[in-house]
Amino acid sequence: MSELRQNFATKEWVVIATERARRPEEMARHSERKLAAPFVANCPFCPGNENLTPPEIMRIPTSMEVPWHARVIPNKFAALSREVQPTRTVHRSLRSVNGFGVHDVIVETPDHSEVMALMPDSYMAEILRIYKIRYDELSLDRRIALITIFKNHGPDAGTSLEHPHSQIIATPVISLQVRERFQHALRHFDDYGECMFCQMLEEELQEQTRIVAISEHFVALELYASPAPFCTHIYPRRHTASFGDVSGSEINDLARMLRSILAKLYHGLADPDFNFTIRSAPAESVGVKYFHWYLSVIPRLTRMAGFELGSGMFINTVLPEAAAEFLRKVDVEALKNTAQVATP
Ligand SMILES: [Zn+2]
Ligand SMILES: [Zn+2]
Repeated sequence: MSELRQNFATKEWVVIATERARRPEEMARHSERKLAAPFVANCPFCPGNENLTPPEIMRIPTSMEVPWHARVIPNKFAALSREVQPTRTVHRSLRSVNGFGVHDVIVETPDHSEVMALMPDSYMAEILRIYKIRYDELSLDRRIALITIFKNHGPDAGTSLEHPHSQIIATPVISLQVRERFQHALRHFDDYGECMFCQMLEEELQEQTRIVAISEHFVALELYASPAPFCTHIYPRRHTASFGDVSGSEINDLARMLRSILAKLYHGLADPDFNFTIRSAPAESVGVKYFHWYLSVIPRLTRMAGFELGSGMFINTVLPEAAAEFLRKVDVEALKNTAQVATP
């Protein structure tokens, strides 16, 4: 029987439609993904084309004498600009702020054809360290209220450029969705005296059915009320509100965990398009006891349709428990040297 489940943290409802249930492996991508070349002459992110991008903010390694592994550049077509001041205007029902903000692009590798799911863990750790450096720098700017770190992989996830990259957008306002989630977490803390995410993690670790992987510092799980198939959250086991609080050893552990989750999706579901994003306390709320940062990986296997837009509820056709069991069984170590995806 189908079931409506409520997300403990967001209070959002989701229809787990087991009547239309699909076996996890049926969700694998069936269309052929075009194999990319390691170098594309007109790609602005390929080595040798650095002059096609705005001047870089940082590069790894820092020396200009050696080839770079990763670069951070301002987005050439930035949604927001750091050149204007965030002046707020309120005219009766019309409210606005000047388009102030920061929009960085992180070019993750010089290799146009590299796939994050198959990268060495040390490369992944380097990318996460860049996120943290930029997160820390942007947190110091008092004009910035919210920093969103994300990656889009594949056209269904909204990528316009094939070269592997991720992005950071910092805004002078906090969205209603983030604000409301914060308020739920604060209310829970006031009522029960504990972080609702720490409580949920403890219960999930006891129950085990939705756990995908556990490492020294992180837990990866399928949400009980997952809005979409295989939506996987990675939580730090230590209570911390902000991604900026992550330690050096936690970064290395997160790199292994994230790479392993992406590899499970890559091998298990034939390289699906996906987004990931880091949900962290807004800059003004660093160190709070009631919010817990996490990384959310969302494979784009289904599309939003009229019901989702009209009701704000999602229909998920894969049981989160079945998705967790499926992902647990994808043995990425055994598949490590298989660059080619098996045809589903
Ligand atoms: Zn390229
Ligand atoms: Zn917590």
